[in-house]
Amino acid sequence: MYIDSHCHINFPELAARMPEILAKMADNHVTHALCVSVDLPDFPQVLALAEQYPHIYASVGVHPDYEDTPEPSVEQLVQLADHKKIIAIGETGLDYFRLTGDLEWQRERFRTHIKASRITRKPLIIHTRAASEDTIRIMREEGAGTEAGGVAGVMHCFTESLEVARAAIEMGFYISFSGIVTFKSAKDLQAVALELPLDRILIETDSPYLAPMPHRGKMNEPGFVAHVGEYIAKLKGIPVEQVAQQTTDNFFKLFNVVR
Ligand SMILES: [Zn+2]
Ligand SMILES: [Zn+2]
Repeated sequence: MYIDSHCHINFPELAARMPEILAKMADNHVTHALCVSVDLPDFPQVLALAEQYPHIYASVGVHPDYEDTPEPSVEQLVQLADHKKIIAIGETGLDYFRLTGDLEWQRERFRTHIKASRITRKPLIIHTRAASEDTIRIMREEGAGTEAGGVAGVMHCFTESLEVARAAIEMGFYISFSGIVTFKSAKDLQAVALELPLDRILIETDSPYLAPMPHRGKMNEPGFVAHVGEYIAKLKGIPVEQVAQQTTDNFFKLFNVVR
């Protein structure tokens, strides 16, 4: 069994095909998925999916790429997270690739999410792109993970260096690999995945984006997370069942979900 630790199945292109998407998950032994919130206006749809389907979980947060959207307060995030199917805070973080200029608001928003995670003791889902130095610095400054018993969160859709991965793991974080790791061009990332211990690794699709090989370029969906798991098994030269089992166990441990 596999778990897709990060998807956006509430996005219209996937939400419109829900029966098909759930069937594909079942076909590929993808038993659970975490539907990740990107802004507050769409949060009700994210929550509705988690309430409707026992095997779908959800998070609450505002993505760093969403500039013209209601800004969340710590209190608001804490209040919205007070639900048994909301298992994480995010996605949050920094993105200096998609947005440029004065991004102090992004850093402030990131700090708000870390505070909410510490209060709720729900792990953070961190998005970082071209901003790893500031991301790690702010995580340290805000004490990310220190109130959550060493179970801090996940660096999702990881594309950074081994050094950044190790800094995050030291703070109690897990590293999640998306379909990017299966791309021929992703040699550096594959070297990072090879080096990291399996007990700190999660797998995800980030669907509808970033379909893994052999579906690259097509619309992604949670069922395809099996390809990420298979790729990591091949890369590490270990049985695919081991990757499936360990990444599943990691998910339940990190998000404190009782099976
Ligand atoms: Zn992201
Ligand atoms: Zn995402």
